[in-house]
Amino acid sequence: MYRATLAHPADLDGFRKAARTALALKIAPDALDWAVEGDGAALDLASPLPPMPDAPAPRVPRHYVELAELAICNRAPERLPLLYSLLVRLQASPRLLEDRSDPQVDAVSELAKAVSRDRHKMRAFVRFRETDDEGGKHYIAWFEPTHHILRLNIGFFIRRFAAQRWTILTPELSAHWDGQAIHWLPGATKDDAPTEDPVEAIWKTYYASTFNPARLKVKAMQAEMPKKYWRNLPEAELIPELIAQAEARTVDMIAGGTLAEVKAQALGCKLCPLHGPATQTVFGEGPTDARLMIVGEQPGDQEDLAGRPFVGPAGQLLDQCLAEAGIDRSRAYVTNAVKHFKFQLRGRRRIHESPNAAEIQACRWWLDQERALLKPGLVLMLGASAGRALLGRAVTVGRERGRPIKLPDGAAGFLTVHPSYLLRIENAATQRAERQRFVDELRAAAALAQEAR
Ligand code: SF4
Repeated sequence: MYRATLAHPADLDGFRKAARTALALKIAPDALDWAVEGDGAALDLASPLPPMPDAPAPRVPRHYVELAELAICNRAPERLPLLYSLLVRLQASPRLLEDRSDPQVDAVSELAKAVSRDRHKMRAFVRFRETDDEGGKHYIAWFEPTHHILRLNIGFFIRRFAAQRWTILTPELSAHWDGQAIHWLPGATKDDAPTEDPVEAIWKTYYASTFNPARLKVKAMQAEMPKKYWRNLPEAELIPELIAQAEARTVDMIAGGTLAEVKAQALGCKLCPLHGPATQTVFGEGPTDARLMIVGEQPGDQEDLAGRPFVGPAGQLLDQCLAEAGIDRSRAYVTNAVKHFKFQLRGRRRIHESPNAAEIQACRWWLDQERALLKPGLVLMLGASAGRALLGRAVTVGRERGRPIKLPDGAAGFLTVHPSYLLRIENAATQRAERQRFVDELRAAAALAQEAR
């Protein structure tokens, strides 16, 4: 019996080296015990794997690597023997992963899926609290992941909050970003994290004011924000009370004021983390009596710099298509579901990243304000993020586009693709056809907006 010992529970590099050695020595999966340093689970009778730095790399499909990156972060102890067993079998059957009826393939896929869900929840539900120390502002978050996902997620937080100093505390491991490098620290307890900061008061006021009993769907709300995470979210402590009062309360969704005043408020918005890396809030623009309201996803790189919606390549294409459809853009109100640019830094390039459901939900306050003040005849949703913001659910654009859709409050809506979709089509004939379809849908939406007068 041999024993392979990993440095930490999600040590993919350690697993890779050990598995390589074990494969080279032709060690059967049931003759290899897997352990993690410090967990005391190692068999005393097992011999450590001998070091074999020159062990050849096995041939594995890319999909195995993707599965392993996720599955190794699962808390289930069987993940390591399962991954090794699959690796051994892949040497004889390179297409094994295509067989979803295989119990091991199925088991590893399920482990990976659970980690992927947990990773997503961490991205959505981590809340940083602002503190001050000798180095200046320091943002600290407490989070309890189900699986070993902090290392897996760390690149996401670094990209998102590269310019800030922050620390994420979890029970088994903590990470501190000093603005230059990541430092791994021991696990912490909830008491090590600040419980409240000045920003939380704004969150709570915002959440209470946006809470609309007419839209209350407790099950959907709990699915979107599972109870386990409530205790880390400043807004969550209001939920039980708000639910209890829901029947009796009415909420005026209009804070009052003009569109210009609402825009001025939005310029200082910090309700979600997207304001950090972005240059500025990009609010909607257009006449206040517009019959047609066009909603995109979020500002892009050029919009972020210019402070105006739809001025980049997708916006220029939209302008051309609107003109072809006989629509005067200056008579429409154009805005986005999310008002700050979300991106990943790759070198010096800022690469667009779609907003997630929590960010769309956070920014819906501003979209609701725009709609309430404009009262357009029709809201034209460009793409899935706009659809989610307006319809309050995930949409499949291909299935729902091109026809009137009633919004949850009864207003007229219409869904089509985002012009950036047209820019991504490589085949010229397909691009022409899709562009024509888009123009036809713009024309149909504009006609409906006028009818709704
Ligand atoms: S994306 Fe929207 S909710 Fe988030 S900070 Fe910007 S304006 Fe506020």
